[in-house]
Amino acid sequence: MNIILFGPPGVGKGTQGVKLAQTNDMVHLAMGDLLRAAVSEKTDLGIKAKTFMDAGQLVPDDVVIGMIESRIVLDDAKAGFLLDGFPRNVAQAKALQTMLAEHGLDVDHIIFMFASNEALLERLCGRLICSACSFGFHRHYSPPKTEGICDQCGSALYQRADDTEEVISQRLEVYVEQTSPLLEYYGDDEVFCKVNAEAGLEQVYEALLTAVKG
Ligand code: AMP
Repeated sequence: MNIILFGPPGVGKGTQGVKLAQTNDMVHLAMGDLLRAAVSEKTDLGIKAKTFMDAGQLVPDDVVIGMIESRIVLDDAKAGFLLDGFPRNVAQAKALQTMLAEHGLDVDHIIFMFASNEALLERLCGRLICSACSFGFHRHYSPPKTEGICDQCGSALYQRADDTEEVISQRLEVYVEQTSPLLEYYGDDEVFCKVNAEAGLEQVYEALLTAVKG
């Protein structure tokens, strides 16, 4: 099974995507995680991407499209993949369509997760992420059992450099301008559905499970 998960920053794509991918034996391919890995390894691509990420802007299409294509052809993606944060604009969606056709691949579910702006802001401001497995926590709403440590894998948690008020508002603007047109692009697709992500973690996860089983 191959899934595209998209929606605004802070809606829970990462947290829910990791879990959904684990349950369905799919590889979780989060564009943001791939980029952050390139940044911390200081590859040429990572150095180029960092400027855009720090400013809350999208990294140029040619960079991210190349990265995702080289990733979906690897063996571990053959059993299925969940794309989290890609595509993020219509040009990327078109490139993805072409690339999947070239590799004889299909998408089984395109899921749009949504929540109110207030919920997104609250989530992003208190967010903590696992440095190893990307599992998400929140300082107030879903704190880890031990401060600073991931409940799932025991690795250290960190706050993302772009989870500051200024960069968050820029990312939300970029979402409205560049990513939200995907709703129209995918809206009529027979595998498209919307999931309300305003509720608690368990409830949203149940809604996602229903979406992929339905
Ligand atoms: P995320 O972890 O999904 O919130 O992404 C963090 C940052 O990585 C974004 O604010 C962008 O700068 C960059 N990024 C992630 N996915 C993409 C994409 N599909 N296209 C361009 N830039 C991206």
